[in-house]
Amino acid sequence: MWLRESHKKLDSLLTSRNIPHAILFTGNAGVGKSELADAFSKALLCKSNTNLPCDECNSCNLFDNYTHGDIHHLRCEDSKNNIGIEQVRSAIAFANKTSAFGDRKVILIDPAERLNRNASNALLKLLEEPPENTILILVSSQDGNLPATVHSRCFQITFQSPDFHIAYHWLSEQLPDESEFSKATALFLRQPLKALSLIKTKEFKKLITALNPSKSGNGLDIDVLTTLAREKNPDKLFLEYLCLQLEKFLRETPTATLNSHASKNIFKQQSELRSLIAKIEQGVALNIKLNFTNVVNKLVSLIK
Ligand SMILES: [Zn+2]
Repeated sequence: MWLRESHKKLDSLLTSRNIPHAILFTGNAGVGKSELADAFSKALLCKSNTNLPCDECNSCNLFDNYTHGDIHHLRCEDSKNNIGIEQVRSAIAFANKTSAFGDRKVILIDPAERLNRNASNALLKLLEEPPENTILILVSSQDGNLPATVHSRCFQITFQSPDFHIAYHWLSEQLPDESEFSKATALFLRQPLKALSLIKTKEFKKLITALNPSKSGNGLDIDVLTTLAREKNPDKLFLEYLCLQLEKFLRETPTATLNSHASKNIFKQQSELRSLIAKIEQGVALNIKLNFTNVVNKLVSLIK
């Protein structure tokens, strides 16, 4: 599987017994960072002397039941979209107390890019003077948003995104009955683990129905655009789909075949979609149908 390289690195860290006190997992969302960070934390706490968690010892059992006293999670609390200073303070208190098993302790921060400024500053103290036997694991899909001071104090493991065929093969094993078009579209929109959950949402089913796979291809042409324009109630996923199609179009079309006026304008529409998506993510109420149709109509006149 595509995680082999990251597995190997973690495995050699465990074998060497020389584990950095702070490890940062980076890579695109949906490639398996959180899942591997969990498994790695479990292995760090496992009482057996193997590199993989044994799944049998007392520590592994407690871990599976979310009652292990030597792991502390920092994540966005309900109704908040960031990790605040109080949470970091409780992690520092956890780091300074004696471990339940008299062994290692793990602090898992996921998603680390959501640490707010005060929280990052407080965390720095822990990164600069790490208590013995406490290992911090930070997981981030947007590590560019982490302060350089935090970044530079972590040992980084970068997760590669899998190649399409490997991802498709994996997704097909999970969803043997799903259509080829759905699987390819989900992988076009998301990395495999996110694609798997996306495929089950009603937003995705709506998009697939609107795209009408029997008629349109999976590319950017007038047919696809006119089909999308007909959707009465598009949601954010429609904007994301179109934005990615434009990105692909601009990447793949040789500049010579596109006159500069058209490519400049397509680029402009893509930026427009990006900013609309960002606004929706920030909770700004906007008329998606109106904005989406505007962009689609401009594109139709450009691509015709
Ligand atoms: Zn175990």
